[in-house]
Order: sequence, then C-alpha cells, then structure tokens
Amino acid sequence: MDFGSNDYLGLARHPAVAAAMSECAARCGAGSGASHLVTGHGTEHARLEEELAAFTGRERALLFSTGYMANLAAVTALAGRGELVLLDRLSHASLIDGALLSGARFRRYAHADAQAAERALAERSRDVAVIATDGVFSMDGDIAPLAQLARAAEAHDAWLIVDDAHGLGVLGPSGRGSLERLRLSCGDAPVLVGTLGKAFGTFGAFVAGTCELIEFLLQKARPYIYTTALPQPVAAATRKALDIAQHEPWRRERLLALTERFRAAASHAKVPLAASDTPIQPVMLGDSHTALLAQQELFNAGFWVVAIRPPTVPPGAARLRVTLSAAHTEAQVDGLVEQLSRVCARVQVACE
Ligand SMILES: *Cc1c(COP(=O)(O)O)cnc(C)c1O
Repeated sequence: MDFGSNDYLGLARHPAVAAAMSECAARCGAGSGASHLVTGHGTEHARLEEELAAFTGRERALLFSTGYMANLAAVTALAGRGELVLLDRLSHASLIDGALLSGARFRRYAHADAQAAERALAERSRDVAVIATDGVFSMDGDIAPLAQLARAAEAHDAWLIVDDAHGLGVLGPSGRGSLERLRLSCGDAPVLVGTLGKAFGTFGAFVAGTCELIEFLLQKARPYIYTTALPQPVAAATRKALDIAQHEPWRRERLLALTERFRAAASHAKVPLAASDTPIQPVMLGDSHTALLAQQELFNAGFWVVAIRPPTVPPGAARLRVTLSAAHTEAQVDGLVEQLSRVCARVQVACE
C-alpha cells in the first residue's frame, strides 16, 4: 500500500487520464520535438494553459517541464544581482536553488515567521525584493501565513511568489489551493506556481499570473526558453485530470475525510503527529536511524511510507512522511494506523 506518493486525488492511474495520454500520443506522437519558442508548442499545450488560467482565476498561465524549473524561472526572472530574495527556512529546494542562481542577496527567515520577513523587507535599501514560499510545506504539511506575507509584500512593494505544489487540487472549497483556503485574492499573491505531478497525477508545472507577468517570463525565463517542451500527450492527460478534479469534488472531500480519520485514529494511538491538517501527515521520529527502522518495519507489514531525513529536513527532525489519497480505503488507513502505532512503540524502545 503506497502511503508515500503525492497522488492526492487518485488520478495518476485513472483510466480516462491514461486514455487521454495514449489517444494524444497516437495523434501527435510521443515527443514535442523542440522548445516552446521554436516549434514545440502545440494545441494541447495552448488549451491546457488556458484551462489552468481559468482554474486559478488568472489572466494567463505558462507551462514548464517541471516544478523545479518553474521555481528557478520565477525567482530568477524577478530578482537579480544586487536585489533581495527572502525565503522561508523550510522552502522547497527548488526555490532555494532559484535564489542561488539569481545572484540576488538571499536570506531565509524562520519558518512561517511573516514578521521576520517583513523586518527584512523594511531594512532593505534596494528597490526589488521577492518573497517566495511554499503554500503547503512539502515535508511538514502546514500552510504558510500567506495573508501576513501578502500584507508585508504589499506594504514594502515586493513580489510574492507562492509555490502551491501541494495545495492546488486539494485545498479550498473548489480545490483552488492554499489561497482559496485562506480567502486570498490573485492580487495578494501575484505569482502562483503550480505543479502537475501531484494532485493532478501527471507531470509538469506552470506559473499563473497577469498577461504582463507571463509575457515577461516567456521572454526572460531561461528554464522556459532553453528546454524541450513537455510532450503533448502529457498535456492532454493533464487536461483530462484537471477536468476530473473539477467535476468530481468527492475526491477532495474523501481525501479530507480520510485525512481526518487518519489524524483522529493516530493521535488516539499516540503516534507522534505534527500539526498539519493537509494530506501530508509527518510522523516525527527524531533521528534518522529510528526513521529508517520504522520505514523497514512498515514495509514488512505491507505499507510503503518513506523516511525523510536530514538534509531534506533539519537535523533531529527525521520523520515518516505519510500522505493520504482519495484512492485509499478507510480499511487501508485504519490498517496503517494500527501498524504505525505498533512500529512507533517498538522502534522507540529499540533505540533507547
Ligand atoms: C514537488 C515540488 C516541486 C517540484 O515539482 P516537480 O514538478 O516535481 O519538479 C516544487 N515545489 C514544491 C513545494 C514541491 O513539493
């Protein structure tokens, strides 16, 4: 039983999504043949970009081959040498690499500390500054203080980039992500990064925003310009997945219900959970050895959960990263909790 992937809505193996991919491959071939600005941009890409713009309520969206590249693109296009990039200490590695590549001065504020971000903005002397944050933190499952960050960015004339890789499709009454959950507008977070390999079950990513922003990225972002376009069958499959995600709200509701079921049962069983109400549910075990031992024990019991260790997480914060999916059954979730409770008790004894 896979409790470690990011297939939140159960779309990665959905027959209609797979069929859209093979039907498009039969029609258009497997590869796009070139980058978007040469001859690689096809009808499926164009349609998907329009549909992603409509879904996120933005003027335009631009496809990228991966979320890693979308973040490199967004950060490096908006900030450059002599300018300032502020990142949450637990930001995704691709935002950190974007900051490094940009050549900007780069500071990390304490996790979820919007006041620290605001102080750093107030102290700066240069004109351009960018705050970049995950919407939902990928290894912790908590949601960034986006309202406070948006206020700080607005007050100090900085860009706010929100990477909502784990929020889109999952959070908010219609699945529009962390911003919808927190009732924020597009103006609050003008640069939205989304990935397609998580809730939408396929592969790729996008940036959504105003026409001006997207045109600027298209002209300036090297991770967009100098790479082969995503294959059209991937775009076709994603269009189908996006359609299903929007027309089958039961997937999101079921995912949230299973998440609550997991949390209630696991906390009752004294499993050391973190404070997350998203489908990312870390079980905090401390040292890497304990986490690996727990991973192995669970695997032997038929549950595939992965131990996440430093340097991906801070020293002493190794964990099992449990993720839930609408494709899980109640019985599978209950079975996982039963095994987790047994394994946590055993490994903690074993390591003392
Ligand atoms: C997965 C992830 C990415 C990278 O997306 P890929 O499409 O896998 O390259 C970026 N940001 C966050 C927060 C992620 O979790």
